[in-house]
Amino acid sequence: MISFEEAYRIVMESARLLGSEHVSLPESLHRVLAEDVASDMDMPPFNKSAMDGYACRRHDLPRPLRVVEIIQAGYTPTQPIDAGCCAKIMTGAQVPEGADCVVMVEYTEVLDDGGVCFTGEDTAANICTRGEDIRAGDVVLRAGTLVEPQHIAVLATVGCVKPRVSKCPRVGIVATGDELVEPEVCPGPSQIRTSNSYQLCAQTVRAGSVPTYYGIVRDTEADIGAAMKRAMVANDVIIMSGGVSMGDYDLVPSVMRGNGFDILFDSVAVKPGKPTTFAVSRSGSRSRAHWCFGLPGNPVSTFIQFEILIKPFLYRLMGHDYQPAYQVVPLTKTIHRRKTDRETWIPVRTDGRGASACEFHGSAHLNALTEATGFVVMPADVAELKEGVLVHVRSI
Ligand code: AMP
Ligand code: MG
Repeated sequence: MISFEEAYRIVMESARLLGSEHVSLPESLHRVLAEDVASDMDMPPFNKSAMDGYACRRHDLPRPLRVVEIIQAGYTPTQPIDAGCCAKIMTGAQVPEGADCVVMVEYTEVLDDGGVCFTGEDTAANICTRGEDIRAGDVVLRAGTLVEPQHIAVLATVGCVKPRVSKCPRVGIVATGDELVEPEVCPGPSQIRTSNSYQLCAQTVRAGSVPTYYGIVRDTEADIGAAMKRAMVANDVIIMSGGVSMGDYDLVPSVMRGNGFDILFDSVAVKPGKPTTFAVSRSGSRSRAHWCFGLPGNPVSTFIQFEILIKPFLYRLMGHDYQPAYQVVPLTKTIHRRKTDRETWIPVRTDGRGASACEFHGSAHLNALTEATGFVVMPADVAELKEGVLVHVRSI
């Protein structure tokens, strides 16, 4: 058995990039940039008015000013501002030569003769100077950036309409277990519906990757092997749900070996999810799945192991360094446990006051997760986290 940190290191170190492709701007959402993006222009590209008002010389503010033109956003001023003059100007318009400030329209009065006078005490410049945000040639987004709407705005601004992004990992998902039926089937005696299949597909999508589901397979080496072979053809990663524990029918590890995988670990000192297994392809071939995870079948174990191990790994395949979000909040109710041999991930819910553990009967209790907003880690040998203590809640 290895520590979670060790398992994480092994998984992350085995990752390699999957290549890249160009996509359109809308398609770049939640993709990972495969190269740095530089600006093709200064931003703002000209001295720009930050207000609706009058562009003039600060020196002239105490006296009435003659309005020489009206400058609308999108149009170029036709004349410089000389002493005693101003131009009416709109937000986003280019400030004319000679002006060193824009007085807000709210602090002006129009005179009978069409001139204006300043009614305020003082004014800010209200000019965004050329290049103050971005200089032409500046790198505005780094390779590895996970593209969110605010990054799309930057891509648009610098004219990067076909960003190069990493290819999405293709993930084949197989559920093992003679007791399983598909959700549309009414389970017979001793059967349950597969929840992991669809949970894992959804988690895969949320991790920016493309799942393909290969159905439920019976607990025989032949059936598991056939599904694994099928999944290997079109995917980079395979996730096998169930069949990795100590039972007589937990055959996934031997099928992994039989299909050209080397198992790098098969037991992690973390709860839930101890039998989590990770294997890499012996051939190293690019045309077949290169990585295979075997997850214990209990849905909470499956969920957590995906979150803490597979999700960062999928992002790493895309060149993104995934960092989970944490909230640091007080615990509103003491968490106590008897067995302290393993680091344990406890589902918690947060509200305005802090975090409390969800009612949780163990790793099969999947509806405990529906209430959870995150997890708190209880390190090995710690039996109690006391009410009031600050905890780091890892968001899900
Ligand atoms: P296993 O890891 O195969 O020993 O399964 C551990 C527990 O998880 C058993 O109670 C299984 O019935 C349950 N289980 C396995 N696969 C699934 C699945 N796809 N969906 C829901 N529960 C499952
Ligand atoms: Mg099983």
